[in-house]
Amino acid sequence: MANNLRFQVVAEAFKKHPVDVKTPTERPSEYFGKYVFDRRKMRQYLPANIFDAMVEVMDHGARLDRSIADAVAAGMKQWATENGVTHYTHWFQPLTEGTAEKHDAFVEHDGKGGMIEKFSGKLLVQQEPDASSFPNGGIRNTFEARGYSAWDPTSPVFIIDDTLCIPTIFIAYTGEALDYKAPLLRALHAVSKAATDVCQYFYDDVKKVQVNLGWEQEYFLVDEGLYSARPDLLMTGRTLMGHESAKNQQMDDHYFGTIPDRVVAFMKDLEIQALELAIPVKTRHNEVAPNQFELAPIFEECNLAVDHNMLLMSLMKKVARNHGFRVLLHEKPFDGINGSGKHQNWSLSTDTGILLHAPAKGDPANPDATAFETLRFVTFIVETLMAVYKHNGLLKASIMSATNAHRLGGNEAPPAIISSFLGTQLTELLDKIERGETSEVRDKKNMQIDIPQIPDLIIDNTDRNRTSPFAFTGNRFEFRAPGSSVNCASAMIALNAAMAEALTSFKARVDERIRSLTPDPSRKGEGSNYLGGGNTAEGVSTPLSPARGVGGEAFHAIVEVLRDDIKACKPVRFDGNGYSEAWVLEAARRGLDVEKSCPVIFEHYLDEDSVRMFESTKVMNRKELEARNEVKWEMYVKTVQIEARVLGDLAMNHIIPVCTHYQSQLIKNVQGIKDIFPVERAMRLSARNQKLIEEIAERTERIERFVEELTEARRVANRIEDIHARAIAYHDTVCPKMDDIRHETDKLELIVEDGLWTLPKYRELLFIR
Ligand code: ADP
Ligand code: MG
Repeated sequence: MANNLRFQVVAEAFKKHPVDVKTPTERPSEYFGKYVFDRRKMRQYLPANIFDAMVEVMDHGARLDRSIADAVAAGMKQWATENGVTHYTHWFQPLTEGTAEKHDAFVEHDGKGGMIEKFSGKLLVQQEPDASSFPNGGIRNTFEARGYSAWDPTSPVFIIDDTLCIPTIFIAYTGEALDYKAPLLRALHAVSKAATDVCQYFYDDVKKVQVNLGWEQEYFLVDEGLYSARPDLLMTGRTLMGHESAKNQQMDDHYFGTIPDRVVAFMKDLEIQALELAIPVKTRHNEVAPNQFELAPIFEECNLAVDHNMLLMSLMKKVARNHGFRVLLHEKPFDGINGSGKHQNWSLSTDTGILLHAPAKGDPANPDATAFETLRFVTFIVETLMAVYKHNGLLKASIMSATNAHRLGGNEAPPAIISSFLGTQLTELLDKIERGETSEVRDKKNMQIDIPQIPDLIIDNTDRNRTSPFAFTGNRFEFRAPGSSVNCASAMIALNAAMAEALTSFKARVDERIRSLTPDPSRKGEGSNYLGGGNTAEGVSTPLSPARGVGGEAFHAIVEVLRDDIKACKPVRFDGNGYSEAWVLEAARRGLDVEKSCPVIFEHYLDEDSVRMFESTKVMNRKELEARNEVKWEMYVKTVQIEARVLGDLAMNHIIPVCTHYQSQLIKNVQGIKDIFPVERAMRLSARNQKLIEEIAERTERIERFVEELTEARRVANRIEDIHARAIAYHDTVCPKMDDIRHETDKLELIVEDGLWTLPKYRELLFIR
């Protein structure tokens, strides 16, 4: 098989040189945000009063009325045209995980047979994409609701090539969200409000709380030629077969190794273009597996961070092609080696600059202030744990997908059980509070408290448990279960809504207890539960000891409620080895969700607890949740269906013909030996080949049978009307057959002559760059 595509692409891949990427003459700080209509450009291109109005819209959620919109659109268009832009598009995030765009030119008929360039406020603010083909779980059909996209002014517009991209939400006319951004914005609003309310116990100047998100994008790069010779990669994003390479990641040499030249060029190019789009990329390095890499920006406000990740993923795909690579964002492109995740580092911070998930800085001169600050820290940690505990099944559902299912629970990624790792210091602190070892001594004016301080040193790397899906890492939680290909919004919607619920419940219970603790009922209505505080020289608020009367009650109430909650959420805390079998049993005993089947896990979205939580926080209603689950099940079915078809084709068109060909050669060889040697001798000499002939016959026979069974399993599943039941059938009956087929093909790969094998092997896909 001299014309074997595999050998051509391997030879070509070896000849490739790194693409020359010019280093910009400007410094990164100068080209940062070059293609983004940010505040600096707004100031430049918008009239002063319009700029001020836009700031109100962006920072304080003021309404964007038409008069502003027209003026903003005019300024935007001027800037865009100066940058060679001819089209605009509403850029939105449908439930398909990617982004969607519909490009329209600025030109319109002028009504007199000519064209005029036009971009009005109306076009900026609202558009009707023809969205009937986007998954919407029946909302659109059932209610015959047309969808429209509406500008999200908190995320700035940007330019890609000749197109002005306007980040938008995508909703039905009946109000239901058809995308990720709309519920994300609602969840962020809910948690901001709830956290701001809780902050009032500690600080009197906090007006707004922001959610921070720092994602870490893992990915694989594969040479484009090799990629094109693997129909499975092309069609499904992962290899459906392939025996592990003799060498893979066991030497741990890739992680610390130097980055290969072609990859360095790709990264440099990607980083420059990302910075031009104001994505604050910072770190790049090799990951654990060969040809696996990671890119992480500095954390940002969550909505913006989500948009930036979506943008970066599409940028990666584009830039990779220019370098002769394909980027694989699939969670598990290769069996037997590390998959790719997208860790989401999450925290809350105030408009006054306090990181609410960070421990007290510690002021020796003011131990009470330190203690209150610590209490604030413990409050946000414990309520996070409450959210994660109460909704651990839902959080797992929020990161689950047909593709991530291959990664979770493997001996590398977090297990498919959501638990939280806190580290020794924080664990000890919570234990102490739980045991009531915090003492308060009150005299008339002052209260002294003894809440042990957490040293800043807690931010150390030695105490990190890599197996934990939701780990405290010093001043934030790191959610490690999300997969590399997802829209970060999915996890952020669930987590922030759950946190909003936890904080709201916390506040209600603390207020209730304050009322019962307040000795003089006439003071009930006074309103201030503020523990006392003030501003330091730098303008950052820090709490001082409570001089005011009510502060004492608030303090007691908070400690008591926290004590209850620390006890309640204990089952979700786990510092041990998440990979062990023992943990699965222990987790089940603790009442954590240990389900592994993806379509079953999705059911958590419709748990009564989840529906109540989403409805009470106004993030999503039951109808939306039901519709979205339909989409999830449908996407699951489609993903597995495509994989099953591709696998069946490959097995029948690549594997079996190649094996049969090789088998015929062996048969000829055996016959030849028989011709020249006496029978007994010939049998002995050809024993190995005879065994191979037999093995090939047996394995190919099994493959054929399994492929038939696979087709039949699909046929049966496809007849199931209910999408939920159909997804479960695909999981239970189609997936196992695919594993069976793969087992046989991977064994055959080991015995068939290398020169005949048509699909690029793991060692080629993983080590050529
Ligand atoms: P790791 O050690 O897990 O690879 P990195 O230092 O690479 O972590 O980055 C983790 C991400 O977390 C970065 O995007 C970083 O900006 C972000 N991050 C750091 N502090 C916070 C915080 N308080 N809240 C949210 N994200 C944060
Ligand atoms: Mg990380």
